[in-house]
Amino acid sequence: MSTVLNQRLEAALRQRRDQHLYRRRRQVEHLGGAWLRVDRRDCRNFCSNDYLGLAAHPQVARAMAGALERWHAGSGAAHLITGHTVEHEALEEELADFVGRPRALLFSTGYMANMGTINALAGPMDRVLEDRLNHASLLDGGWLCRGAMERYQHADTGDLAARLDHGEAEHNLVVTDTVFSMDGDVAPLADLAALAAERDATLMVDDAHGVGVLGPEGGGAVLEAGLDTDAVPVYVGTLGKALGTFGAFVAGSEPLIEYLIQRARTYVYTTAPPPAVAAATRAALRIVREEGWRRQRLDTLVRRFQNGLRALGLPASPSRTPIQPLVVGEPAEALRLARALEEEGLLITAIRPPTVPAGTARLRVTLSAAHCEADVDALLEALGRHLAGGVDTGAATVASP
Ligand SMILES: *Cc1c(COP(=O)(O)O)cnc(C)c1O
Repeated sequence: MSTVLNQRLEAALRQRRDQHLYRRRRQVEHLGGAWLRVDRRDCRNFCSNDYLGLAAHPQVARAMAGALERWHAGSGAAHLITGHTVEHEALEEELADFVGRPRALLFSTGYMANMGTINALAGPMDRVLEDRLNHASLLDGGWLCRGAMERYQHADTGDLAARLDHGEAEHNLVVTDTVFSMDGDVAPLADLAALAAERDATLMVDDAHGVGVLGPEGGGAVLEAGLDTDAVPVYVGTLGKALGTFGAFVAGSEPLIEYLIQRARTYVYTTAPPPAVAAATRAALRIVREEGWRRQRLDTLVRRFQNGLRALGLPASPSRTPIQPLVVGEPAEALRLARALEEEGLLITAIRPPTVPAGTARLRVTLSAAHCEADVDALLEALGRHLAGGVDTGAATVASP
C-alpha cells in the first residue's frame, strides 16, 4: 500500500530535516558571467564547476545552435546502433589528442563513465581499491561491480601498498580522483602510478576537476604529472565542468576503448548524446587549448582568495585548484553561513554529510575565470565579517581539512 511507503518515507525525511541534512533544489536563472538570479535576488555564483567560464560562451552556444540546424536535436539511438555521428567521432579524436592518449570514448555523463568502466574492468575474481574520498560515482562503481571493493585512507600510498600486498584478487584496479571534488587537493598521481606498476595493478583516474584546468593547454592532471598511458591506463574526463557543456569520456589504449565499446553497459545500452552537444564541446575544446589566459586568471584569483583569507586571519585551504573549501564543522553552522552570505548576494552551497565525512560540513567555494577581482574581494569582505564574529563556531574552528 502506498500509505505504508509514504509513512516510511516521511519518517526518513523528518529525520533528515532534524539533522539539518535536508536538501532542496533552487530554481535559478543564469544571467551570464558569474551571475545567477535566485529567488529574485542577483547573486555572484561561487559554487559552479564552470571553471573557465565557457558554459555561457557565445562561440560554444553558436556551435550548438549551428549543429542543431544541421543535425537536428536527437541522436535517435545508442552509439552501437545509429547514434554515433561524425560529430561524436570527431570529438573523440580531438579529446584523445587533448589528453595525450591513443583513443577516447564518449559517455553521456561522468557518472555513467565511471560506473560503466569499473563494471567492465572488474569481474568477480577482481578487486577495486578506491581512495575513501573518491566521488560518489566511483564509489558506486566499486560497490555495484561484481568484484570486491575496499577503500584506502585518503591519498595514503602506504595503506594502499599494504592492501595490495594482501588478498587473493586476480587483478587489482586502483581508482582515484585526481583533484578531490570537496577538498580541491590533488592525488599523489606519480606515487600511485609507480605503486600500481610495481604490484601489477591498473590505475584508473577521474580528472573531472583537472581536465581543462591543470596541465599543458589544460590537458589535465595526468599530463601535468607527466604520466603516459602505460602509467595511467584508464583516464576519465568530464565535459560538464571546465569544458562548460555536458558529457564525459574515457581515454586510453586502443584495446581499452574497444573493450569498453563491447562491455561497458552504460555505454552500450543508452542513447548517444545529441550531436549538437558534441559540436558545442568541440568549440569549447578549441577555446580551452587556445586561451591560456583563462587558466592564468584562475590561478591569480585563487592566490588572491588565499592571501585575502590569511590577511583576515582565516586559514586558507592547502588546495591549489579552484576548489577552495572552508570547513566549518557542523551542518547547521554551514547552513547558517551560506544563508547569511546569500542574503548579501553571494551564493555558496553548504556541503554536508553524507557528501563529506561527518564533522566536516563546509562552504565549498569554487572560483572561475568568469569571476573578476572585485567578485573575490566582495566574498572576502563578507567572510571576514561573518566568520570573525562567529557565533558558536567562530573563526577559530574554521580549519583546513
Ligand atoms: C562531477 C563529477 C563526476 C560526474 O560527472 P557528470 O558528468 O556530472 O555525471 C564524476 N567524478 C567527479 C570527480 C566529479 O566531480
